[in-house]
Amino acid sequence: MTIASNLQQIRSRITQAEARCGRPLGSVRLLAVSKTFPAADIAEAAAAGQTAFGENRLQEAMEKMPLLPSTLEWHLIGPLQRNKVRKALRQGFALIQAVDSLRLAETLSRIAGETGATARVLLEVNVDGEESKHGFSPRGLRTDWNELASLPCLDIQGLMTIPAPVGDPEDARPAFRALRILAEELRTCGPLPLPELSMGMSHDFEIAIEEGATIVRVGSAIFGGRSYPERQAGHAVLR
Ligand SMILES: *Cc1c(COP(=O)(O)O)cnc(C)c1O
Repeated sequence: MTIASNLQQIRSRITQAEARCGRPLGSVRLLAVSKTFPAADIAEAAAAGQTAFGENRLQEAMEKMPLLPSTLEWHLIGPLQRNKVRKALRQGFALIQAVDSLRLAETLSRIAGETGATARVLLEVNVDGEESKHGFSPRGLRTDWNELASLPCLDIQGLMTIPAPVGDPEDARPAFRALRILAEELRTCGPLPLPELSMGMSHDFEIAIEEGATIVRVGSAIFGGRSYPERQAGHAVLR
């Protein structure tokens, strides 16, 4: 299988999932997760029409981005340390997806503000409540919401989640549903419209679409298997 044919298949599965649950065609965006794959593979995907790519490590993204067409759009989907915020903002990500604490949000807003910019972000929520995981707990997010929503240079576009790995994709549904319901609740608290829900990966993106995902993050189903060990999808690469 080539990257182009994988992409074509994923796109058609996205379209079918949209149709199946009565969502407008084109309402779900495919983010191609290119972590660990070389720039040549990303160029191949770009040649096949893919424009949005996700990287989970800042350093790796900084190495690859300059090698690729400037028309591509990049999302940082992994954890960001506060001392790397300046670097990350300079890198020009379209979306920083894994803002997982009020302190990080404050740092992003403050440093973006220094240059008159706004940081576009998603807030990562740990909806299945594993202590060890990154992200706001739903409760913590409710507590911090007013402060988060009033940060002047932070543009919160929505929520993202990485559920605990499951064997049967259907088992991820409750986490996806919980994220959607949490976003609905926060919308009613105003004033943010929170249009984006980033959820679903290679294994379970169709379930995520049925539960309202607007961005699905698909890596291995496009680029193939990754060879390094990961503690859990998207987090803390062991090196
Ligand atoms: C790696 C990663 C993905 C993609 O995972 P696949 O199972 O390869 O599709 C999605 N989201 C995040 C945050 C990741 O780190």
